Amino acid sequence: MEDRKVMLASANLLQAHTWKGLLENQGIPVELRGETLLGATGELPADVQQVELWVNAEQKPLARDHLDSLQVPKEDWVCIACNEHNEGNFELCWNCGAEQGKQL
Ligand SMILES: [Zn+2]
Repeated sequence: MEDRKVMLASANLLQAHTWKGLLENQGIPVELRGETLLGATGELPADVQQVELWVNAEQKPLARDHLDSLQVPKEDWVCIACNEHNEGNFELCWNCGAEQGKQL
């Protein structure tokens, strides 16, 4: 049985390994490609090296959804329910508990 693989995304080595772990926790096998080239690049730090994430073609939409759901907003935001300022890593308003962009 042959699985057709497609490229899901490319990312730096640290990010790629993070995504790989998260996706494999969801039952989606991930193959990292490009790491074998790294021997020749020498001193590049892991946050610069680019690798590709490949998944089975039929799992790509699911994997894409998981990746999208990992895109936690990093920018600060203002709660529209109470106008309180929140840091980007908060998903709920620290003041009133409203979801970002939603009224209570
Ligand atoms: Zn609020």
